[in-house]
Amino acid sequence: MEKVVKFYSRDLALRSAAAVTTELVRNVTATQDTSPPATIALGRLITAAVLMAAQQKDGQRIGIRVMGDGPLGELFVDASFEGKARGYVQNPQADVPLKNGQVDVGAAVGKGVIAVTRTLPFQKAPQQGIVPLVTGEISADLAAYFRQSQQTPSMIALTVSLDKDGLVTAAGGVLTELMPGASEEVLQTLENKAAAGIKLSHLLTQKAPELRMAQAFSHQDDLVAMDHPHPVMFFCPCSMERVERTLTLLGRATLAEMVLKAEPVLVNCEFCQKEYSVLPPRLRELLTELEK
Ligand SMILES: [Zn+2]
Repeated sequence: MEKVVKFYSRDLALRSAAAVTTELVRNVTATQDTSPPATIALGRLITAAVLMAAQQKDGQRIGIRVMGDGPLGELFVDASFEGKARGYVQNPQADVPLKNGQVDVGAAVGKGVIAVTRTLPFQKAPQQGIVPLVTGEISADLAAYFRQSQQTPSMIALTVSLDKDGLVTAAGGVLTELMPGASEEVLQTLENKAAAGIKLSHLLTQKAPELRMAQAFSHQDDLVAMDHPHPVMFFCPCSMERVERTLTLLGRATLAEMVLKAEPVLVNCEFCQKEYSVLPPRLRELLTELEK
């Protein structure tokens, strides 16, 4: 069972969230049938959402939308505090040439913006922050978002490794947040560590990978683990009820047109690819309800 492990440093200067997300990334990318750059981009993004959501409160969700002009098109992921995550890529099969033997995620995503949305239960307007994409490699783009939107410095490191057939061998990441009042020295140490280009993928194969990752982005090794007892899993909350609600939102005229066609309406969930078929008698009922 994969889960987010949360830590704080003994001196209370920082807190972090780390997770191995190999199974999650395998599941979401298999569902989307992604090319190598799409697998890495979506894998990094969903890992980030899971880590960021784990640092929120009960019932809160984090959504991250990447709108780039590269061949992948739009990417979207969302994750809950409780570890349920899903995501999609607009053009999952799109591919780009390798760059220095590496999958060129930045070119596949392109230039554009990244938007992070925080949804609280029972709150109508979610909080949103948008920043321009820096590299399209996801980690640097989120770093830019953190710099602009948060009072305390945060760092995120994400990794998705593929084998020669493009299948996910390992995935994971760590989010480190300085607590208010942390010294300049702590920040400097973290920035030096980040600049040294630590290879997270090596840490994933070690014992207690979450602790190793958190230590790699901490000024001290003395980290205290906190309980976050929620399994990380690929989960899509779509249902026939939601599909019907969406059809109703299209309005009377569109619904009436569907009824007149007398054919089942097929709706594909873009997250989990589940297909829903709404039959003509039910369409008629929905129209009648709407006209009431
Ligand atoms: Zn679904």
